[in-house]
Amino acid sequence: MNVSDTEIVNSILMEDGMEPVNEPEDAEVIFVNTCSIRDNAEERVWNRLKEFKALKREKDGDLTVGVLGCMAERIRDKIMEKEELVDLVVGPDAYRDLPKLLADVDDGRKAVNVLLSLEETYADIKPVRRNDNGVSAFVTIMRGCDNMCAFCVVPFTRGRERSRDAESIIDELEQLSNQGYREVTLLGQNVNSYDDGEHSFADLMYKASQVDPEMRIRFSSPHPKDFPEELLQIISEQPNLCNYIHIPAQSGNNAVLERMRRPYTREQYLDLVEKMREIIPGVTLSTDIISGFCDETEEEHKDTLSLMAKVKYDLAYMFSYSERGRTLAERKYEDNVPEEVKKRRLSEIIEQQMNIQEELNNEEIGRRHLVLVEGTSKRSDEQLCGRTDTNKMVVFDRPDHIGKGDYVEVTISDCTSATLMGDFIKKSSIKEFSQEKVAV
Ligand code: SF4
Repeated sequence: MNVSDTEIVNSILMEDGMEPVNEPEDAEVIFVNTCSIRDNAEERVWNRLKEFKALKREKDGDLTVGVLGCMAERIRDKIMEKEELVDLVVGPDAYRDLPKLLADVDDGRKAVNVLLSLEETYADIKPVRRNDNGVSAFVTIMRGCDNMCAFCVVPFTRGRERSRDAESIIDELEQLSNQGYREVTLLGQNVNSYDDGEHSFADLMYKASQVDPEMRIRFSSPHPKDFPEELLQIISEQPNLCNYIHIPAQSGNNAVLERMRRPYTREQYLDLVEKMREIIPGVTLSTDIISGFCDETEEEHKDTLSLMAKVKYDLAYMFSYSERGRTLAERKYEDNVPEEVKKRRLSEIIEQQMNIQEELNNEEIGRRHLVLVEGTSKRSDEQLCGRTDTNKMVVFDRPDHIGKGDYVEVTISDCTSATLMGDFIKKSSIKEFSQEKVAV
């Protein structure tokens, strides 16, 4: 979401006559786009701001530093006061105000706008994508969240849910297709709740699939409480809607889920997973897990391990609980699982997950996949890498005349827990590959 927001900020600033530079030393203005989801993310921002303070000194004060995003919203006063680190604090709904706020700073004033909006979706702003791979893009379809999970600061930093109109989203997808992008991830804090007054999220996904049959569509993130079954059907029917779903579980224990204010049970979650696998054979799943939430017992932790063992996620984002100010958990519960217990439980969760991933990746050996090439592999210029429709990274030897943005068919020959290795078969397309699958 922050990558996507930065692209909106690029657009607003460039429209105002500013130009991006690649090195902090060359900049007259530096913005740090921040995340408040965990303490660790905020720590990194403080360190970065200290570095920029030193740079400001080197440049005799000829540098403006601003904080954007969730941290701006959450701790604006602290940011402004702390060692005079920044000149500008701007929340996620106030980016249109940036040119005016920069002018305020030029006039010698500190500038702050952290007002949250009920309407702002930046629908009319054409994002300027500077740092992506030219193949995959993010498109924000809604902002904010009304769910109020007990541990989560997002409803406080990003405000109420609001959806961007489907027409502006489809326009953006058409532009991306014309620019050669081959994969788009539709983003929202809670995409199931998408509703522009005329279209549901399932409607939007169908419309998105029709823009360009050779452009893959992914999405992130849905909520397990109201995942639309109709969408599963649409994914199974449209070859360019990817067979991969990120479905955050957070915990495998009902009492913890209740304390977290996640309104589904372990049983309902498992039923949903079964339905996903029934309607979309071969679908891969990923999840988010929080270990050591308030009052979590050893038995409750084991339930999370057993849920993960049962579902067998292809990927998981696993963290230990980090208390966030203003959340229900902070007000109602004690952050009482000792750090070393949180750490131990998290390492048990990670270890099990790595074993599962390795097992699942081993099962891929011999299978044929359509891979969208994203570029050269990190290890060698002689190898290319890209993702399967099921979101697995594949590395393979670079054939002649194949490059970024091409679809290729590969057979999986080897794996680690994180990556598949493949043998190139031929250049292909979504259409060709899906017809071959039907024929098989
Ligand atoms: S649904 Fe996601 S973004 Fe919304 S409150 Fe819950 S965890 Fe936070």
